[in-house]
Amino acid sequence: LPSKLPDVGTSIFSVMTQLAQEHGAINLAQGFPDYDPPRELLEALARHVLTPGHQQYAPMPGLLRLREAISQKTARLYGYAPNPDTEITVTSGATEALYAVMAAVVRPGDEVLLLEPAYDLYAPAVRLQGGVPVYVPLMPPGFRPDWDRVAAALSPRTRLVLINSPHNPTGAVLSAADLDALAGLLRNTDTLLLSDEVYEHMVFDGATHASVSAHPELRERAFVLSSFGKTYHATGWKVGYCLAPPALTAELRRVHQFITFSVSTPTQHALADVLPDTALYDGLPAFYQQKRDLLRELLAPTGFELLPSQGGYFQVADFSALAPGLDDVAFARRLTEQAGVAVVPLSAFYHNGHDDQLVRFCFAKQPTTLQAAAERLRQAE
Ligand code: PMP
Ligand code: GLN
Repeated sequence: LPSKLPDVGTSIFSVMTQLAQEHGAINLAQGFPDYDPPRELLEALARHVLTPGHQQYAPMPGLLRLREAISQKTARLYGYAPNPDTEITVTSGATEALYAVMAAVVRPGDEVLLLEPAYDLYAPAVRLQGGVPVYVPLMPPGFRPDWDRVAAALSPRTRLVLINSPHNPTGAVLSAADLDALAGLLRNTDTLLLSDEVYEHMVFDGATHASVSAHPELRERAFVLSSFGKTYHATGWKVGYCLAPPALTAELRRVHQFITFSVSTPTQHALADVLPDTALYDGLPAFYQQKRDLLRELLAPTGFELLPSQGGYFQVADFSALAPGLDDVAFARRLTEQAGVAVVPLSAFYHNGHDDQLVRFCFAKQPTTLQAAAERLRQAE
């Protein structure tokens, strides 16, 4: 059978996690915390799992009480209260939302503008709809979008522009001025926007997250995604949501109902219980900034050169001084096998590979894990 994605192998995150397991390496490759969700959330889930009547299908768009809590959270943080009935859909992680958006709006031949490096599922999700990814590069060390290059890449065929801030893999963060620049480019076009904001609560050094939800002009054409997996250290729960104006939400739900119908009921009840507790997410910027700072401090005496990380879970490092000329896939493999620390080669986020000698570290780990990883790196030098 001819493959629909012949050039796609197994996701880099699975590959590196398996390699880490085979070699007993500390996994700083795949982005997931090695600590548990808040106790309140686990207890809430236990309660709802034990509640008769909470074990059957949730409503297709998500539990109303969860959508109401999401609306209140969005209003508190971004000054805009999306309508729970018509503008909020609970999804099986941001992953399903991304896929459903693509399936809902991308037609064969439509162009979808991606900023590269890009999270690995974006391009395959576009291509499975017959869409054509158009790539605009983000350049190291800051990986900031060059809006002139974005303007040059837009065409009457551009159905969708995809942005991701805080950014995976680089940790770059968009500013309100960036959103204004993008709004200027999209004004008077039919182009839609998909804003992947799964790391919305992890922005460092006193900056605030510039959400598309807070931008009245952009949000009129936007799908905005978040993930409870990131916010509550529960990546295995696979619950997220998509905010979009009513007409776009209607299209999204046409697809969502046939991909998965609805999301796990007790999980949604548990999230609805804790979401009003703002203390559970207000502390996240400081919590993650400390982890970023610790990793940077630990890596400083090694031969890695650290690029900026303004938000998210990740720190990008240049290893050219440690292994001149070696490509990043070979280096990541060597580091896993010989030093016992797994990382992700940045070329995994590029459609045609990438020549810079860069790897990504995940710092969503306990301090002892980061320290143990640094100790191994020192011993391997
Ligand atoms: N977008 C980005 C940028 C991510 O890093 C991730 C998860 N690692 C996702 C989407 C998927 O989120 P979820 O786990 O909620 O499906
Ligand atoms: N998004 C996570 C990362 O970037 C991994 C998600 C996955 O394993 N699919 O590492």
